[in-house]
Amino acid sequence: MDEINTEAPPKDGAQDGGKRWRNKRTPRGGKRMGEVKEAPKNRDHSENRVGDPFSGGVNRNGEGWFGRMRDAITANKKSHEERLGCYMNFGSKEKSIRFAPLGGLDQIGGNIAVFETEKSAIIVDVGMSFPTPEMHGVDILIPDFSYLHAIKDKIAGIVITHAHEDHIGAVPYLFKELQAPLYGTPLPLAMIGSKFDEHKIIAHKNFFRFVEKRKPVKIGDFEVEWIHMTHSVIDACSLAITTEAGTVIHTGDFKLDNSPIDGFPPDYHRLAYYGERGVLALFSDSTNSFNLGMTKSESIVGKTFDDLFSKAKGRVIMSTFSSNSHRIAQAIDSARKFGRKVAVIGRSMEKNLSLAMELEYVKFDQKIFIDAHEVAKMPDSEVLVITTGSQGENQAALFRMSINEHRHIHIKPTDTIVISAKAIPGNEASISTVVNQIAKSGATIAYQEFSEIHVSGHAAQEEQKMMIRLIKPRFFIPVHGECQHLLKHKETAISCGIPERNIAVIEDGEQIDISAQGIRKIRGVRCGKTFIDNQINREVESDVVYDRQNLAKEGIIVLIMQIDKKEQKLSTKPSVMSYGLVAQKRERAFNKELEGVLDSFVRGIRPEEYGNMKMIENNLRQAMKKHIFRSLKRYPIIVPNIFVQ
Ligand SMILES: [Zn+2]
Ligand SMILES: [Zn+2]
Repeated sequence: MDEINTEAPPKDGAQDGGKRWRNKRTPRGGKRMGEVKEAPKNRDHSENRVGDPFSGGVNRNGEGWFGRMRDAITANKKSHEERLGCYMNFGSKEKSIRFAPLGGLDQIGGNIAVFETEKSAIIVDVGMSFPTPEMHGVDILIPDFSYLHAIKDKIAGIVITHAHEDHIGAVPYLFKELQAPLYGTPLPLAMIGSKFDEHKIIAHKNFFRFVEKRKPVKIGDFEVEWIHMTHSVIDACSLAITTEAGTVIHTGDFKLDNSPIDGFPPDYHRLAYYGERGVLALFSDSTNSFNLGMTKSESIVGKTFDDLFSKAKGRVIMSTFSSNSHRIAQAIDSARKFGRKVAVIGRSMEKNLSLAMELEYVKFDQKIFIDAHEVAKMPDSEVLVITTGSQGENQAALFRMSINEHRHIHIKPTDTIVISAKAIPGNEASISTVVNQIAKSGATIAYQEFSEIHVSGHAAQEEQKMMIRLIKPRFFIPVHGECQHLLKHKETAISCGIPERNIAVIEDGEQIDISAQGIRKIRGVRCGKTFIDNQINREVESDVVYDRQNLAKEGIIVLIMQIDKKEQKLSTKPSVMSYGLVAQKRERAFNKELEGVLDSFVRGIRPEEYGNMKMIENNLRQAMKKHIFRSLKRYPIIVPNIFVQ
């Protein structure tokens, strides 16, 4: 057991806050879970009580105005200490809560984590991630669910923070293996619902439990409250998770947008409420840990759109993340202002927008929309096309437009292409390809040279600080980011007064136990990735993917040979086929060379070895490998077919 922290109760009131608040007016009750203790209205500072500052009197030591001023300074200092301390007047010191991230720490995407008490467990988010280019034939990665199977009987529910794929993308795959009540706000559950339709597991929608923000829900040993948060998708939430050990706050993905498009800023009051009540641990979004200042408000992008749309002479083609309904709404608004009709093109864009409209998160007059085939009939200056492909995906509409292969849209030199997005790490090259292809057509491109053409959905440093100050947790665990982001977030937390010993930077598969006494690393739990082929929505076994990697990197040789056992030689000319090793013009010479190796190999087989064909095959592979590595520095896959007469 690796002890991270066993600190003694700090002097800042983290441990004895209960005592401080225990005065005549607010007798300390039991510490039962669910009970909400209000901060006393009149704190009893009798030892320091100062005289009435307006009476012109003296303080208890008989001193005049200077003495009274000194008393006020002392009292204010004490008040600061009290308000900054994490009071921990809530929850039992003996109880603990366990946390194990199974994805999303030290990597981008695939977020999934498990909170556990002794008797029950909840899973927070079940996201997917994208494969690296060498994972041939793999479309998405989902988390390894082995640990969830191991604690199957404890799982009381699955809790969803928001509708991004890195948080919900793997839910249908999990449900095919095991089911539990699935809690979330309407948009994420509706999106999961449409995935269940695609995966033909419609009956599992019975597990959906729609939650109301600000209304805690009992899930096993947990009480979970969804707290409204701003992000780059509608209906995102932070979670307040309360157990007998106290409350932990999981921010989910967040930014602090004070002028959001829908007018609903983060629910600071609930965050502050929990902060004042006492929070055991804060798990906070680390994505933008290196960004200084505040992330700009989503509403700023609308002004850039207005500017670009008003200057554009021809059509405007705008591409962004299909999940960002507020971005799309702003583009549609700008279009309306400048007399443009809107064509929405791309499957996920159409699907997400119609869902957001159906749920009434965004509202538009249907008359503003036109179909893709109607674009050509309209004057260019009256058209806005909103489309998918802002990450350069080669299946998406923008890519097909860029290579002139889209059915309805052929890019013209008079078009203005607006890419309202930033590359997700790993996608830079594909975006660059699309931008270059568009550039060749002579169209105007508005991309990252406009600083306010896109804003992030994640908190920069000042927002991360604000979150820490509101929650003032006892312990801090940075989540959602690579190791470098987590460590930077740790620095930020230290600058906000969280002692270094109270911060745990952990990675996927590490389980920690959190109690008022400290954080302990307990053990490793199994985590990893499962490869998925999207064509069949099924797993590709890892050995298949490794074989493909080997094939791509090293090539393959197929050998067919017939051995005359008595004569100890090849009875006919062997057949050698190789792929991915030598150019066609060298193939004959190469094959001849290998035939020579086969010939001497066969002559070397001892008669008693014929009883074990597996061994002969293995020895042949070794001999071939040795030879090929010497000449080509490659280790191809070797497939021998040996027939003995
Ligand atoms: Zn997100
Ligand atoms: Zn995320």
